[in-house]
Amino acid sequence: MRVLITGGAGFLGSHLCDRFLAEGHTVIAMDNLITGNTANIEHLAGNDNFHFIKHDVTNYIYVEGSVDAVLHFASPASPIDYLELPIPTLKVGALGTHKALGLAKAKKARFLLASTSEVYGDPLIHPQTEDYWGNVNPIGPRGVYDEAKRFAEAITMAYHRYHDVDTRIVRIFNTYGPRMRLEDGRVVPNFVAQALRDDPLTVYGDGSRTRSFCFVQDLVEGIYRLLLSNEVEPVNIGNPSEMSILEFAKKVVALTGSASEITFIEPTDMRIQDDPKVRQPDISKARRILNWEPKFLLDEGLQKTIDFFRPRVSS
Ligand code: UDP
Repeated sequence: MRVLITGGAGFLGSHLCDRFLAEGHTVIAMDNLITGNTANIEHLAGNDNFHFIKHDVTNYIYVEGSVDAVLHFASPASPIDYLELPIPTLKVGALGTHKALGLAKAKKARFLLASTSEVYGDPLIHPQTEDYWGNVNPIGPRGVYDEAKRFAEAITMAYHRYHDVDTRIVRIFNTYGPRMRLEDGRVVPNFVAQALRDDPLTVYGDGSRTRSFCFVQDLVEGIYRLLLSNEVEPVNIGNPSEMSILEFAKKVVALTGSASEITFIEPTDMRIQDDPKVRQPDISKARRILNWEPKFLLDEGLQKTIDFFRPRVSS
């Protein structure tokens, strides 16, 4: 296949580039580099099957030649990023998805949308199944991401129904691993960097909020299987092993052998407004139709992530 990956220089996009190349496909990575980084794909320079195009996908996308699959992964993706970049976040979820779908339609390519557990908002159903419609505050600070992704799902289904585009939607739950940005503000890079510097870990609130963390390699496997499947409706991909943020902080301190203390802070900005209280994917559907489930234990994945961050963290 000849595959276009938008957001190809980002955390997930770059891992997808690696995976598709390893399977013998040709990859065109497209990224405007506002949160993506060429460091994530520099190891692919010189690979004849890999091409990089710097482009903002909210504008018309031109790709020469055939394209068999379009994977739309471009978007700011951490709460800090989308608080700082609210308009680009809305634009890439709305206009960018429209352009990427238009390209898929023109090239008769299969289209896969990177959606998110954020479509469930602060969930009232737990764990979250794909048939749950969500509890999103449209005008809150996270609304720019959540509503853009909800629109992206809606337009994807519309292109499927009205233009017959062959589409897939993956709802991605918290994912971590090498190539996350140290400064992206998410809990994994924050805690790992703080622990490696022996700085206090910043637990927001009382640490009772929960998340379920999936190692990036597991996620990529799920996405690869979904693309090759026949499932048009959304599929959750994530790791159902749920823990509180306080437990997670203790785990990071233990694995890094850090002298850090754990502190509880109430950020004064909008960082924790509408912060979902709990989150855990129900992955019965992925198990059933993709024969997929995560393989990496948190300790294993976190160790690889710590190894990635250690040389990049200055004390
Ligand atoms: N969090 C925290 N300390 C940090 C960063 C995040 O306690 O330094 C909390 C945050 O409030 C949320 C959880 O960790 O409850 C996961 O946050 P993250 O930004 O990683 O992603 P989210 O799942 O909210 O999109």
